[in-house]
Amino acid sequence: MTQVLTVDPQTPDPAALARAGQVLRRGGLVAFPTETVYGLGANALDPAAVARIFAAKGRPAHDPLIVHLAEPDQAAQVADQVPPIAHRLWARFAPGPLTLVLPKHPAVPPAVTAGKPTVAVRIPGHPVALGLLRAAGVPVAAPSANKFGHTSPTTAQHVLDDLGAAVDLILDAGPTPIGVESTIVDLTTDPPTLLRPGGLPREALEAVLGRPLVVAGPGAEARAPGMLPRHYAPRVPLWLFDGPRAWAREMLWQTAAQLARGQGLRVGALVPTEDAARLRALGVQVADLGPEADLETAARRLFAGLRGLEAAGVEVILARTLGEAHLGLAIADRLRRAAAQVLRPPHGQRGP
Ligand code: AMP
Ligand code: MG
Repeated sequence: MTQVLTVDPQTPDPAALARAGQVLRRGGLVAFPTETVYGLGANALDPAAVARIFAAKGRPAHDPLIVHLAEPDQAAQVADQVPPIAHRLWARFAPGPLTLVLPKHPAVPPAVTAGKPTVAVRIPGHPVALGLLRAAGVPVAAPSANKFGHTSPTTAQHVLDDLGAAVDLILDAGPTPIGVESTIVDLTTDPPTLLRPGGLPREALEAVLGRPLVVAGPGAEARAPGMLPRHYAPRVPLWLFDGPRAWAREMLWQTAAQLARGQGLRVGALVPTEDAARLRALGVQVADLGPEADLETAARRLFAGLRGLEAAGVEVILARTLGEAHLGLAIADRLRRAAAQVLRPPHGQRGP
């Protein structure tokens, strides 16, 4: 039976954290909130515990896990070498939604890093995650607590829906505040490489680095093995309108009209508030991402919106990207990976 302990997100009960820490030290699996999404944690130094993560998620062995620490000083336990640039980034962004790829320490079992010579390290900012890491006293390997390939979980209920009995204990602290996964930066390259856009905007990182990050291109799969082109996917097909705002809004609406009115399909849409009324007028089930200019709210609502539409029984989900600036980049990345079909404007119609 999965034990669910409800805790306050700001001041979690120390007894609950101690209990969860004990489960981790004994080789169990604990799902816990971070500021990004819920993670599925195991003692990173215990190969049998780590194997249970892969089994619970149905995650392929070639997809490495992020190792979570309570503070930057612990990095030497899992990384062979911590370059000065890592300390500079952590001084500004730890704890927070930033994952750094560093040379791996021999103490980290190969299963954690999928046999790679590097290890991904993060110091999460959520008080429950930090409290759990301190209580556990060990580095905690934790991918997102969803079935492999499915939408990431932003509530404890999402974790139960996907993983249920495979988890020993869930710390439930309500919805996660950021809603998209951490930004992953590889520091073993020069200049550093952005492997995954995420909750920490690229612009903030580049301001501290003083130079542009290299952005991992289409060949990035070998570098960040979990970055599959199809990932984060809802269980119904998602059609993504990926282009200038005016074009995407109009095409999404026209397509909704055709599918809902023309073909009588049950249509869902994951869109900003500005789009909601005229889609609802077509009978479309709308998941509201909030005001278009508020990318933080959109990121927070993204995955729950997809799951909500899935649960509502729609037959197709329509969505559009919200630009590439700040959190728009992470939102676009997740939507592109979730999409069964990406629709782009014909050449000559690009631009804002
Ligand atoms: P998740 O925690 O489910 O969001 O997945 C963690 C992701 O981090 C993986 O899918 C990889 O893309 C990335 N990652 C973890 N370890 C490494 C590593 N050593 N090198 C490059 N990418 C990594
Ligand atoms: Mg994941």
